[in-house]
Amino acid sequence: MPICIECRFPVEALYTAYSKADDRSLGKGVRLTQCPRCKRFADKYVEHDFVVLFIDLVLIKPQVYRHLLFNRLGRDDDKFDRSIVRLGILLLLFDVYLTWARIEKLSLPPSSPHHVPPPSSTPTNTSLPPSSHETNTNAAVLQAQPLILQYLFFLFLVVSSTLAFHMPIRLLCSLPPTRIPRIWRGFWKRIVPYYPHPTPLSTALLVSSCTKLFPILLIIWDYDLPSSATAVSWAVIVNNVAALEILMDCGYLRAGVLVGIGAGLRSVIANFVLRAMGLGTGWGDGTAGWGDVDSLVGMVRGVDGWVRRGIENG
Ligand SMILES: [Zn+2]
Repeated sequence: MPICIECRFPVEALYTAYSKADDRSLGKGVRLTQCPRCKRFADKYVEHDFVVLFIDLVLIKPQVYRHLLFNRLGRDDDKFDRSIVRLGILLLLFDVYLTWARIEKLSLPPSSPHHVPPPSSTPTNTSLPPSSHETNTNAAVLQAQPLILQYLFFLFLVVSSTLAFHMPIRLLCSLPPTRIPRIWRGFWKRIVPYYPHPTPLSTALLVSSCTKLFPILLIIWDYDLPSSATAVSWAVIVNNVAALEILMDCGYLRAGVLVGIGAGLRSVIANFVLRAMGLGTGWGDGTAGWGDVDSLVGMVRGVDGWVRRGIENG
């Protein structure tokens, strides 16, 4: 049953069509339902197109999330909507590109079997072979393999990290509090919401990850890729928390705990896969972890400077 996107009150229908000859997308012959409780339109987004939806999604408007999760993509049979399957594949392929570009630039850890020790002589002589700094990046190891193998490796990395993100959230939410020992039950209820429908959970996580599509702008403007990838991943996490909170109405703390657990496991799995291949993960060399925060701040400063220049130039 659809709901009012303003106050979550269930409504019979979102609109009434008066004439079949008219086009609903043009808003003719259609009257939006007024919510009996809050007296506002139950779902104004039925008349809006995809661009408006996408902008409001990025702005984290709860109404647009309710429209998508409850009134448009929600199904009674607990299966994924076809458009969500397509969005999931698109996000996966995009993630492969972003992850590939980011991982390639990281340096190899000294413990890696591919690591070349630095020469003992001072690197003042220009006739020396390329410095070990250039050969000690992930790119040097990856490029020794055929392109298709590189692609398959990143596809595997992205699929396993996505599963590692979705699975713990789905499992934790589907665990009934009655199965938890009595002493822990109060604490459990406070940090993990009970929501026994895993498909809407994954739908919410996928819809809220569509900020990942932003780096399509990289094709137009040349950004510093690792820092923009980091900024995008932070924005996606904020969107994920908001989407889970709106879906389950569980408060930001509990949604944040769930996303934190999922994101933590995702980074453990990704680091494990990269380490197993002898590649650098970026942890501990200032390019990830707290370095993420640094690059986020750098990115915000860059955007700020760019906006100021725009204002000064009129
Ligand atoms: Zn209402």
